[in-house]
Amino acid sequence: MRVLRALVAVAPPWCLAFALLAAMPALVTAPAYAKSKATTAKATIAKDARLAGDRERTRFIADLSKKVDVHVYALGNPYRVIVDAADVSFQMPQGIGKKQRGLVSAFRYGLFAPGKSRIVLDVSGPFLIDKTFVLEPRDDQPARLVIDLIPTDEKTFLAKLREEKDKRAQKADIPLPAAPTHSADAKPIVVLDPGHGGVDPGASSPNGVNEKDIVLQFAERLKEKLVATGRYEVFMTRDDDTFLPLKERVAFAQKKGAGLFLSIHADYFPTEIDDARGATVYTLSERASDAEAKALAAKENFSDAIAGVELPEESDEVVANILIDLAQRETKNRSVVFARSIVGELASKGTLHTKRLRSAGFRVLKAPDVPSVLLELGFLSNSEDEKQLTSETWRRRMADSVTEAVDGYFTKRIARMPF
Ligand code: ZN
Repeated sequence: MRVLRALVAVAPPWCLAFALLAAMPALVTAPAYAKSKATTAKATIAKDARLAGDRERTRFIADLSKKVDVHVYALGNPYRVIVDAADVSFQMPQGIGKKQRGLVSAFRYGLFAPGKSRIVLDVSGPFLIDKTFVLEPRDDQPARLVIDLIPTDEKTFLAKLREEKDKRAQKADIPLPAAPTHSADAKPIVVLDPGHGGVDPGASSPNGVNEKDIVLQFAERLKEKLVATGRYEVFMTRDDDTFLPLKERVAFAQKKGAGLFLSIHADYFPTEIDDARGATVYTLSERASDAEAKALAAKENFSDAIAGVELPEESDEVVANILIDLAQRETKNRSVVFARSIVGELASKGTLHTKRLRSAGFRVLKAPDVPSVLLELGFLSNSEDEKQLTSETWRRRMADSVTEAVDGYFTKRIARMPF
């Protein structure tokens, strides 16, 4: 049997991006749908998609069951084309979108928000959307969405991007539900955050097991266990296969008045370290505890880019970090206390061996006032871990351990003290 590897360590000095939340430009702008009957009529089915052409002109074609209104626009850093539509059900052949052709290196699709579907094309360099049109079905041909991309220089790309961004900026942010009032003697609120979802599948195993599904199944089980204790109010940032931007996950926890935020993931390592096994607990820090933790944070933070969310300017984050450094120490202390509690539980149950807690700049852990921890359940790149991650028995056992860790945390005085 392979040695179970556990990876957990104490967080170095760090600071949190508090003002970041306020300083960031609108991450998600409501797509501009033309008035459409699609929201009330039966969903449009996207049956297939393909790429044609070369680097001089690359064409993306999607076959649809009927004509649909789409909103197509470009994003930079990294270069992407975003296609938004209401109520599209994807029934594409498995495995499509992974092959490069012309300017497009890959594409993916899925739910971006309830009732809102999205296709994301990754583009290898600066480009212009030359044409977009949707053809009516004709004879034996399905309805078709066609997008033509042509290469351009960086300057032209950026100029066009700014122009489009100004237009989109006039649209309002997607509003979040109002915070409920929460009295001091009420049950502590725990927010579970299954990572990824919808258009962003997260990591996937060679057998096609997706992180977004594994973490949702685990979060559902954990929620049941936590609720069953009668001691907590539990909310989930998502409870179906819908994407949620990182900023909104953080905002959700804050609005709920969470006493604890647990983001749940399942890692993937490339082949050279494929014997990596076991769960890992991460806290937030400005400086990563090691290169692997740093790489993982970069990968998890890339979720928004994968799903086609516009990323904040880097300079906003620098300013934000300076502003909030001191305010965050208390949250950091509590996060580490909770992280140690999970590590202790998992170690005692044999799910985690070496007592190391790791830390890095995970964007989803950046709520200034909510103790937050990211739990990587295991490695999808490891076949034994994969077996566990998809097993109901393992899921229940792991959920029991984490429930005990939550209990352990809330019995500590620090967890009950006001900020
Ligand atoms: Zn993840």
